[in-house]
Amino acid sequence: MSGKLYIVATPIGNLKDISFHAIDVLKSVDLIACENPMHTTKLLQHYNIKKPLDKFFDHNEKEKSKYLLQLLNQGKDIALVSDAGTPLISDPGFNLVRLLKLEGIQVIPIAGPCAMVAALSASGLETNEFSFEGFLPAKQSLRVKCLQRLVLDTRTLIFYESPHRIQQTLLDSIQVFGLMRIAVIARELTKQFETIKQLPLGQLYQWVHRDRQDRGEIVFLIQGAESSHRHHEMTDLLKVLMPYLHGKKLVEVVREYTGVSKQTIYKAIERINQESG
Ligand code: SAM
Repeated sequence: MSGKLYIVATPIGNLKDISFHAIDVLKSVDLIACENPMHTTKLLQHYNIKKPLDKFFDHNEKEKSKYLLQLLNQGKDIALVSDAGTPLISDPGFNLVRLLKLEGIQVIPIAGPCAMVAALSASGLETNEFSFEGFLPAKQSLRVKCLQRLVLDTRTLIFYESPHRIQQTLLDSIQVFGLMRIAVIARELTKQFETIKQLPLGQLYQWVHRDRQDRGEIVFLIQGAESSHRHHEMTDLLKVLMPYLHGKKLVEVVREYTGVSKQTIYKAIERINQESG
């Protein structure tokens, strides 16, 4: 009987963010295919797991997949992990899974951390519909084109971004979406310096630039077009009502008319108060 491939999600920072199921699987398999053995060794040592590791990364994925298929056909069980989070999500593994599906080998996901899900869940942006865009192109002209394609998208947009490019990406986003579109930077999630900041793009750029927030690992999110429109409506309504209504009553009325979450309305009130000095 052939073996199974387990796609095992591992922590994105905090080593405690791993499931009992994942640990059981890592302890039980014959081999762990990983992006960077040094990185994975740290995790395994933390949980006292000793297993042979095999390097599986972007540049050897096709060749290595054939080799892993042979082992699976010999009945060996294999776990695939990446350096952080869920394998295949902006990480290697797709060619392997596609091949194994064609060959009728069982592929079993062991669910766990994923930076984009963690960021979205705590972003305050709409979660019903979203589009995960992975990394934007490194070349600026292509990056701008990509953003332009998304300008009318009503879903929350989620990107992975490297710290050395985030400032330029924010400037490109301002060029395409305008200064006022709400966006979020979710930095160093689950780690010591975790920071999640929601601001209009213009202010978000200033904050990153001023406070040197262009460090560590970053998920960048942009509010969808429709909810952005709703956000403008909500801000306008607040400005009209604020001289007459306050506190809970104000928030209830604005929520009733716009459907925007209480948390977002309170933030908007805070911002309007700050702006008016
Ligand atoms: N497979 C991973 C996952 O499930 O999230 C993502 C791998 S991708 C190569 C690495 C990118 O994920 C980073 O550049 C960053 O954008 C994001 N990321 C990973 N860990 C993060 C963290 N702790 N905080 C914020 N972003 C993170």
